[in-house]
Amino acid sequence: MNLPQNVEFLISRLNAASHRADVVGGCVRDFLLGKEPNDYDITTDATPDEMREIFSDMRTVDTGIKHGTLTVICDSHPYEITTYRVDGEYTDNRHPDSVSFTRRVSDDLARRDFTVNAMCYNHTDGLTDLYFGREDLEKRIIRAVGDPMLRFSEDALRILRALRFAATLDFEIEENTSRAAIALSKNLSSVSSERILVEWRKLVAGKAAYRIIEKYKSIITLIIPSLEKLMLPDQEAFDSATPVIRELALFAQENSPAAAYASAMRALKSDNKSRDFGVTVLKNLDESIKNESELGILLSKIGEDHARGILMLQAVLKKGTLPTSAIDSLIKSGVCYKLSDLKLNGNDLLSLGIRGSEIGKTLSRLLHLVASGQVKNEKDELVASIKR
Ligand code: ATP
Ligand code: MG
Repeated sequence: MNLPQNVEFLISRLNAASHRADVVGGCVRDFLLGKEPNDYDITTDATPDEMREIFSDMRTVDTGIKHGTLTVICDSHPYEITTYRVDGEYTDNRHPDSVSFTRRVSDDLARRDFTVNAMCYNHTDGLTDLYFGREDLEKRIIRAVGDPMLRFSEDALRILRALRFAATLDFEIEENTSRAAIALSKNLSSVSSERILVEWRKLVAGKAAYRIIEKYKSIITLIIPSLEKLMLPDQEAFDSATPVIRELALFAQENSPAAAYASAMRALKSDNKSRDFGVTVLKNLDESIKNESELGILLSKIGEDHARGILMLQAVLKKGTLPTSAIDSLIKSGVCYKLSDLKLNGNDLLSLGIRGSEIGKTLSRLLHLVASGQVKNEKDELVASIKR
């Protein structure tokens, strides 16, 4: 495995102090899949105190130190180095009550969630793969390390992680792991909404999201209860949509899509901006946009981003008549759909003797006429239209 220079450096530092150190988890999995890892985690038999000593001349961050993780800043990049760990008892279906440090790499691999995430690598020992993760990668399987019932009752987040990895990697969840995930899914109530949202967003963006959502409907409706019907649209259309539009498409068949979506996103503590976007798009879902004139009116009413969202969603649901590209050609043709595009402004209206709230009303009326192609966006024409 080719390792980045910084990682080589950190590992050799630990080796020089007679410690074993490996890259572990996601980066080994991604490397074996031929993908560029997004970050490299390091696991070592050095204790947190030993690590602090070894990296005493470098900038380090202690935030995870109680769990054995020291963040070392190397070339302005943060690297997480974690002491081999055994998790204590789990009593809240989410976090171990305590963790203890060990000198055995096998202990550390045993606490990891899935076989494909439980491999580590260094240049001396090569790949350490005690749970046949490499074989499961080849078979394209997500399988829990050890007894899935036990592992999912320890930490219910792993249930969602299983679905997420299956969706992003386009893997199957191994039979027993799958059964345990469904059987213990009620424990998901122990997982914080923030973590659910992160996993959900990765899942829905995954290339096999459709298959996983369809197969694990019962789990999805547990984490998003306002998806009462959870009807999937046409798969090809869903697959080709952006993650945001995929998410909205799932709500489109509910009795009140916008309300269901708003309530789901509030419960999952999504940010206001993306929530408002989705609500506006879903509220306008049934808007009929048959021609450029109607598209111009829609653009002037709700702006480009929302209009684009509506057309994309309508395309996924096969209820639109115009392709999303209609927006591009309309905008390219120089359509006026923002007040700032109007060749007439508030001052012009003042000089025409219009006052107070009439100014705003007149401008929006003009924008409507221009956007729908009824009046040309030229000053004389606009003035004439006001007089009319
Ligand atoms: P990603 O590409 O999303 O970063 P990752 O596998 O690196 O995937 P992380 O959440 O970064 O996932 O976790 C790093 C490693 O820590 C995992 O590969 C796995 O070995 C272990 N891990 C993470 N979360 C859990 C968990 N809830 N239970 C057990 N092991 C976990
Ligand atoms: Mg990671």
